[in-house]
Amino acid sequence: MNQLIVHPEWCRRADCASTGSHQSATFNAGRPGDLVGVDATLVELETEGIRMLRLTITEEGTAAHYSVPVEQARALSDVITSLLDV
Ligand SMILES: [Zn+2]
Repeated sequence: MNQLIVHPEWCRRADCASTGSHQSATFNAGRPGDLVGVDATLVELETEGIRMLRLTITEEGTAAHYSVPVEQARALSDVITSLLDV
């Protein structure tokens, strides 16, 4: 028997049941010609309700994935904004 899945508003509603997580669309934080690719996706683990920001950094064809809790991602955003405003 299938359980009714409740998706967060931002979920793209693809493979949630099979992956056990909700995922947003992936946003690219790059511009044409950038040496490093940066993609960001919001992910929520369905069973734990833990929300993470997944960053994919691609350099010379190799992708590395980092998952950061949302609160830490907000703190990182503040740090980046502060550094770039110097
Ligand atoms: Zn979902």
